[in-house]
Amino acid sequence: FLLTEPDVGSDPARLATTAVPDGDDYVLDGVKLWTTNGVVADLLVVMARVPKSEGHKGGITAFVVESASEGVTVENRNAFMGLRGLENGVTRFHRVRVPAANRIGEEGQGLKIALTTLNTGRLSLPAMCVGAGKWCLKIAREWSAAREQWGKPVALHEAVGSKISFIAATTFALEAVVDLSSQMADEDRNDIRIEAALAKLYGSEMAWLMADELVQIRGGRGFETAESLQARGERGVPAEQMLRDLRINRIFEGSTEIMHLLIAREAVDAHLSVAGDLIDPEKSLSDKARAGANAGVFYAKWLPKLVAGQGQVPGAFGEFRREVDLSGHLRYVERSARKLARSTFYGMSRWQGRMETKQGFLGRVVDIGAELFAMAAACVRAEHLRRTGDHGREAYQLADAFCRQSRIRVDELFDRLWTNTDDLDRKVVKGVLTGTYEWLEQGIIDPSGDGPWIADATPGPSRKENVHRPIR
Ligand SMILES: Cc1cc2nc3c(=O)[nH]c(=O)nc-3n(C[C@H](O)[C@H](O)[C@H](O)COP(=O)(O)OP(=O)(O)OC[C@H]3O[C@@H](n4cnc5c(N)ncnc54)[C@H](O)[C@@H]3O)c2cc1C
Repeated sequence: FLLTEPDVGSDPARLATTAVPDGDDYVLDGVKLWTTNGVVADLLVVMARVPKSEGHKGGITAFVVESASEGVTVENRNAFMGLRGLENGVTRFHRVRVPAANRIGEEGQGLKIALTTLNTGRLSLPAMCVGAGKWCLKIAREWSAAREQWGKPVALHEAVGSKISFIAATTFALEAVVDLSSQMADEDRNDIRIEAALAKLYGSEMAWLMADELVQIRGGRGFETAESLQARGERGVPAEQMLRDLRINRIFEGSTEIMHLLIAREAVDAHLSVAGDLIDPEKSLSDKARAGANAGVFYAKWLPKLVAGQGQVPGAFGEFRREVDLSGHLRYVERSARKLARSTFYGMSRWQGRMETKQGFLGRVVDIGAELFAMAAACVRAEHLRRTGDHGREAYQLADAFCRQSRIRVDELFDRLWTNTDDLDRKVVKGVLTGTYEWLEQGIIDPSGDGPWIADATPGPSRKENVHRPIR
């Protein structure tokens, strides 16, 4: 799946690879970076820009390209911090002829197709994160029971124990999130854009934290490679590899920062569609007056819903009150969801058109939403497991532990919506970029040299001999 280019990452709308119509074919030119499996694949899905011309709507378009086509070269095999088994390369297209029949969908629909594919694809990544959490739990359990320091297993030292509890509770909740989102995807009728994005965001961030805690629990052995451990006669536990392998999940398939923006946009979309004209400086006074009237009607109905709800009704969600009581957590979720909507609305009124630049605020809004979603999913899963007779009691305990841990994070995030260093940070960044603090960098040796930051991606014949043709 070839979308990324040396100069185009999170913002694919600017991509430079071209597909110029020529008779019944298109002719592709461009360079694609970090093509996973591109080194071994027979078929590539390539995103390229079709120029607008007579009979051609143009725009970013998806093509199936046979990797054996004339003009396709794999120029480099990329190597990474983790995922060292990945086949990944730079793929160059030089006057590659692709029949029009190989176009997927219409011209201009490429990004839409790519994003739709990403929706369900996004669920496989958090599913892997669940697997990572389960493995971290197993190793943490076995190791921390066996390893003794200061006369007792390290698990029984509170500082280590809290990490184990975090891994167990978070793995339970993460599995609940992935199960719920996957069920919704299977039901087809649901638009799972937000759930899939939340699962990806939350899964990648939490799995990273869990693996980091595992490395800490393992002490020096957490930092040692499995090979080295084995070579000196110990069990080859690849904790450091887990950490390295998980790191990329926060970057690819939509980085955490981009997921924050994507989910936040969905959250404020309803407001923009009713009140967008009000804050748009291009709109005339009469447009604004009309928008004001529409917004008045919308908010007259919407705002009262945010004042009261089930979360304030004592005993609500009573079906979740068992030996362990989860009903209070669900009431908290309901109250917090309304508080979140009020906070978002307040942010919109305060910053209006500048809201989209308030990434710190928006990121926290989304992180609160992710925690609330995970809490609700964890409670529902615990109740489901109780009903089906599988570990219901223990599931309730884990859901309770997760919700209590999550509530502390949510309360802190709510505080940080309004008490933070965002404005100050912006000033510091300005200082950093203008060189004000360059003196602080003195005394280091920078081994990265002074080559270009981004490789030249000018289309043309491969500058290298085709050094890495696919290996079968
Ligand atoms: C191992 C690996 C495999 C990959 N496989 C594929 C593949 O098969 N096909 C493919 O097409 N691509 C692939 N990619 C590319 C991957 O999808 C990109 O790395 C990812 O989209 C991010 O783009 P970028 O690295 O250019 O970062 P950039 O877009 O340059 O971003 C740099 C930083 O800025 C942040 N940022 C960017 N824009 C904003 C914004 N508007 N607001 C806030 N923060 C922002 C990012 O989150 C990031 O932290 C792969 C990458 C790797 C490392």
